[in-house]
Amino acid sequence: MIGDGSGASGLAGSLRERGALLLARGAGAATRWLRRGGGTALPGLVATALAPALLEELGRLPGHGSVTVTGTNGKTTTAHLLSAAARAAGLQPLANHSGSNLERGIVSAFVAAMTAGGRLPVAFRRLGVFEVDEAALPGVLPRLRPRAALFLNLFRDQLDRYGEVDSLAEGWWGALEGDASGLTLVLNADDPSIARLAGAAGGEVVTFGVEDCDVALAGVEHAADARFCDCGALYAYDAVFIGHLGHWRCDACGRRRETPAVSARAVELLADGVRFELALPGETLAVALPLAGLHSVYNALAAAAGAHALGLPVTAIAHALEGAGPAFGRQERFRVYDRDVRLLLAKNPAGMNELLRTLVTPAPPGPVLHLLAVLNDGVADGRDVSWIYDADLELLQGRAATIVVSGTRADELALRLVLAGLEPALVEPHLASALERAIELTPPGARLDVLATYTAMVELREALANRTGVAPYWGAAS
Ligand SMILES: [Zn+2]
Repeated sequence: MIGDGSGASGLAGSLRERGALLLARGAGAATRWLRRGGGTALPGLVATALAPALLEELGRLPGHGSVTVTGTNGKTTTAHLLSAAARAAGLQPLANHSGSNLERGIVSAFVAAMTAGGRLPVAFRRLGVFEVDEAALPGVLPRLRPRAALFLNLFRDQLDRYGEVDSLAEGWWGALEGDASGLTLVLNADDPSIARLAGAAGGEVVTFGVEDCDVALAGVEHAADARFCDCGALYAYDAVFIGHLGHWRCDACGRRRETPAVSARAVELLADGVRFELALPGETLAVALPLAGLHSVYNALAAAAGAHALGLPVTAIAHALEGAGPAFGRQERFRVYDRDVRLLLAKNPAGMNELLRTLVTPAPPGPVLHLLAVLNDGVADGRDVSWIYDADLELLQGRAATIVVSGTRADELALRLVLAGLEPALVEPHLASALERAIELTPPGARLDVLATYTAMVELREALANRTGVAPYWGAAS
């Protein structure tokens, strides 16, 4: 399956597939040249249209196979950590980029790494690490045939996607019930909608979860949507960590969360990161992760469980977690005029609540937070913005010194903040101007936290990168 005797593995396929690859490479170069974007989706779109069987062919190329990362929140960071673990283990990850997590994005990642002749250099050292959109996964799994499929969580996304949670879970179940031989499932034990997938396929299962009940929430959040057991009863919880994630059980039929194989204990949530004990089968590591929030613990656990499932050494996992830089727009930091600007992507109620909790844990001494909150309603953000009413913005009461509000739906967000008992300092729909004003209102030496929906995050990141000289995203090495 690997190598063709020349040190690189190539497409055994037809002229049609090679032709598709060549045309796709041209499309990628053309898009980059036109500066319309990173050229991350179009090449794949061209290639898959020309050769529908391409993904099956490509999936055989990486010598160490592939792993998929799926779930509502945390895909990009988890894939980023998994790639780092693979690199630390001496492998060369082949990864798609955030925002290109449909089939064509995966094909584009291959196209970008391959030679014009259709060969994948150093294929024997390659591991595919692909984040895959929740709805695209059933189509991708049977053709990519990864070695491991990692499932993070299943939250209700924006309200305009309400009702999709059940159909997504059914779609995953169907794909796994099919021919999933040889596939290892990596599952979040704390999410009952994810944990139940263990029954769908016959292969190996590696579970992960949080074992420290001291970091549990006092109560259930606004955003927590009720989850029902297969028997029809509502789950009860001994501890709730984020939304519906926690130590769940069904009192009607006795189904309950199982003790995870990979877990976090003695979790300490700090302002700039988290510390915890990472328990792997037969080994425990002390981890200091430079990413804040309990959601970061889940992402780290998922990456560690995934790396363990792929047989990567514990030293590589430790190295990846300790040296974890932020993924694109996820807690990325920029230094501007002596202020520390931190980008936080907030795209749904569960994710927003987790960021808000991260901002106020440990409790800052009085109103010291400086915030720029941006709400856009582009297609990539979700057109329906009423999900902000499911976000616990009340958590910011008494904590925020200044809040600047921006985005195409700045007025709605400002109203929501006022209803939460907060007083925006300024409402400025124009994003670049809002960023300038927010920086001015942040005292030198202090931090400006930017909470932004997806399209706003991309635009702000580009503005900040231009100022500070960080390479544009598509210029970054995978
Ligand atoms: Zn039940």
